[in-house]
Amino acid sequence: MPQRPYIVGNWKMNGTRAQLPEARAIDRGAARHPGVRVGIAPPFTLISAMVEAVQELTVGGQDCHTQTAGAFTGDVSAAMVKDAGAGFVIVGHSERRAMHAESDAAVRAKAEAALDAGLEVIICVGESEAQRDAGDAEMVVGAQLEASLPRGDGLVPRLTVAYEPVWAIGTGRVAAPSEVAAMHAVLRAKLIAIYGDEGANVRILYGGSVNASNAAELLATPEVGGALVGGASLTAESFLAIVAAAGPAAD
Ligand code: PEP
Repeated sequence: MPQRPYIVGNWKMNGTRAQLPEARAIDRGAARHPGVRVGIAPPFTLISAMVEAVQELTVGGQDCHTQTAGAFTGDVSAAMVKDAGAGFVIVGHSERRAMHAESDAAVRAKAEAALDAGLEVIICVGESEAQRDAGDAEMVVGAQLEASLPRGDGLVPRLTVAYEPVWAIGTGRVAAPSEVAAMHAVLRAKLIAIYGDEGANVRILYGGSVNASNAAELLATPEVGGALVGGASLTAESFLAIVAAAGPAAD
């Protein structure tokens, strides 16, 4: 049976309690689209309050540490993210890879920590503009995925991959559906090579300047199982338009 499309908002370092009414509005809107799974990853500080405020949405974290506890000032473990009420965590976002020098090995360790803590995990991969211009995008992203994925049995149901070309994040430059289709085919082949037939069931999201105008075309692209959305996830108006592009309203 095909899976419900999954639309995930990444609020990045945006949001205080003042934005909870926006989350409630997104939650009410999401409830009108039962064929779409909708999640939001707010800053850590807002996870528990958002969990209390919403009913339909899955709430997630934007990162977690590789270790369960210890002397890691300023860091947050996967168990803490789970304890705050989150159901998933994003790891390997390109902003973390670039600004915090996170390697593929670190991303894999974070994914393993998240799964061990009982969370679902969204693993992000994506090439830079220079890598795409050099014709290396598929090789680079395929290698990133291979090195970032946790290994083991029974992980697939809690695993999502997000393809986010770095040059498309926050720039308004969305990847062409043909580029997305080609990359998602590479990622799918890699997932099947690693997890066997089960690899066909891992959702692959596209992320990078998704908005109300381009969502329908991107979501109709082969192997696109949903979207990871940054800027357009911050208001109910713009985010729910993307949710609506993923599946019709029930009423
Ligand atoms: C993101 O940061 O994951 C993202 C996709 O951002 P935006 O939608 O703003 O490009």
